[in-house]
Amino acid sequence: MIAIAISGAPGAGKGTQSELLVDKYDFAYISTGAALRKEMADGTEIGKKIKSIMDNGELVSDDIVGEIIVNVVRKAEEAGKKGILFDGFPRTIKQAEMLDELLNKEGIDFDGMIGLEVGEDILMARILNRAKTSGRSDDNEESVRHRLDAYHEKTAPIFDYYKKDNRYFGVNGEGEVININKDICAIIDTFKI
Ligand code: ADP
Repeated sequence: MIAIAISGAPGAGKGTQSELLVDKYDFAYISTGAALRKEMADGTEIGKKIKSIMDNGELVSDDIVGEIIVNVVRKAEEAGKKGILFDGFPRTIKQAEMLDELLNKEGIDFDGMIGLEVGEDILMARILNRAKTSGRSDDNEESVRHRLDAYHEKTAPIFDYYKKDNRYFGVNGEGEVININKDICAIIDTFKI
């Protein structure tokens, strides 16, 4: 089983590209953002705990996110999937280390992180446009500023973590959706599926 992650600032297009990849390859898929939003919608204990954090555009604790991920990896193995795609995870160095440890235990290698690279003007424009229809309580300018800060402070350092052993693959995320998808597939096709 291969394991890959798709990363990028808010609005970089992680969800859009993930959908295309899951259609094309037989991958299990987890968006930690979507999973956490579901906890809130379902009104679970976790959901109540994280609401104000997420609305502010800050990161949820590594422990909460870690619990979600453990279950997803187990289910993907049980279902005999060819791969697993993480969207929006890992988002901190701690999470990257947790993921390596978890996958190692299962005998799975982490093949790499695909980073969608998009300039900030474009990101903000995309999100404010998405806000008209997304219904997401964190799609407003102030929350996006916080999400961008969290991205620079906590997520960008993991690119160096993966670059050290050639597991970071940057992709220009500013063009047409379909062309970006082709660039990503070209990278995935170099992994042993
Ligand atoms: P975006 O990338 O547009 O911010 P996501 O759906 O990936 O959208 O994430 C939305 C929010 O969910 C984040 O701002 C954060 O609060 C929380 N979140 C998602 N993934 C993680 C993670 N791996 N670690 C901590 N918090 C997360």
